Amino acid sequence: MKVIKFGGSSLADAKQIRKVCSIILSDSRRRLVVVSAPGKRHADDIKVTDLLISLSRAIRDGKGTEAALEAVLSRYASIAADLDILETDILKIIKNDIISRINTETDNHEKLEDLLKAAGEDNTAKLVACYLQHIGENAEYIDPKDAGMILSSEFGNAQVLPEAYERLSELAQKDTIMIFPGFFGYSENGDVVTFSRGGSDVTGGILAAAVNAEVYENFTDVDFVYAANPKLIENPFPIPLFTYEEMRELSYAGFSVLHEEALAPVYKKGIPVNIRNTNNPDASGTFIVPEDKAPKPTLPVSGIAADTGFITIHVYKYMMNRLIGYGRELLSVLENEGVPFEHMPSGIDSISLIVREKNCPPAKLDKIIECYKKMDADSVTVDRDQAIVMLVGRGMTKTVGIATRATAAFARSKINIRMINQGSSEVSIMFGVEAKDAKSSVVALYNEFFN
Ligand code: ASP
Repeated sequence: MKVIKFGGSSLADAKQIRKVCSIILSDSRRRLVVVSAPGKRHADDIKVTDLLISLSRAIRDGKGTEAALEAVLSRYASIAADLDILETDILKIIKNDIISRINTETDNHEKLEDLLKAAGEDNTAKLVACYLQHIGENAEYIDPKDAGMILSSEFGNAQVLPEAYERLSELAQKDTIMIFPGFFGYSENGDVVTFSRGGSDVTGGILAAAVNAEVYENFTDVDFVYAANPKLIENPFPIPLFTYEEMRELSYAGFSVLHEEALAPVYKKGIPVNIRNTNNPDASGTFIVPEDKAPKPTLPVSGIAADTGFITIHVYKYMMNRLIGYGRELLSVLENEGVPFEHMPSGIDSISLIVREKNCPPAKLDKIIECYKKMDADSVTVDRDQAIVMLVGRGMTKTVGIATRATAAFARSKINIRMINQGSSEVSIMFGVEAKDAKSSVVALYNEFFN
């Protein structure tokens, strides 16, 4: 059995949904299908999820909801009309569903926002199932609540709970084409909770692991994953295969093709992931596989990514290396504030803690600095607007000269490297640079390793 996921651009209109259905029907093993909400039809369009967020904010702010509601409903109405399924009651079902969400009584805005956000994928799954049934296929909509998609109760940032897998594994027994809405599940007390944005990829990963799929096919709008962001590099090198570790490093640092958390469930089971193009289903796409299934690469570097929005906290204390437990104390300050650290390059008398700005708002940052000063540090300084640049490739392992080539490329582009960090697996090297240099860093490294 294959688990197959379609992203928003694959469901943006009826023409795309017809392509999706023909892809599903072209292979009888494609039985568990995850759908996103309709995405953009053209560059200036608005994703249904964003329309739903506007709707929930209109409710929060006590503004009229008619315009926002109409914007959502008209997307579904035009899809249903173009799919020729207006004689079914699908539009009534969708309208009633969204109105009942709007009328839910709660003073918890995060809860209401998740409830509304989830309406995008939920109704798209109903609509696709309805269309498949209409053309005579044995398809059904699967309700994540009935199926057991149980998540932590973190609104907008949920994680799957381990007990979900057993219930979800029962889906493998069904003989229908199952259309499963991505992006959300239910908390233990029955609230709708969503993953972070782009989270339908995560739903697909969880389901693939639960039913032990032979492959998790993730259909999007590119033929391959490329070595660098096509918005920065013209015609970047297509990469037919990555290992889980390479892809994890790249999606962490800003490769948006796959959600950062989508690989975790399949990684444990070694299920391959295949990124493919709905608009060109004959292209074989990019595979993401376990390390021991990956052939030796022809090039040392597989991908280059950069992400901004980091803060670095530098703590300097003379003779730090002789102190026992100083590093632990620094980290427990972050722990007490609930701030995860991303990297921690160190010297004999200094430690730099790199955190994401979004996880460390100014009030928390002030508290952290104050605690570090109380720990008798000689200096505590902060750099804002930092970026990390990741050079990733399993071919770099035990290869001499990679760092020299990379640093020379930075130097030629007159980019100052603030920090360098290489993990022990040697699959990636992280460079810390100023955020203003992030894009030119990617270009510099790409030119060095691919041109
Ligand atoms: N529709 C959601 C979003 O736009 C989830 C997804 O597409 O994966 O973030």
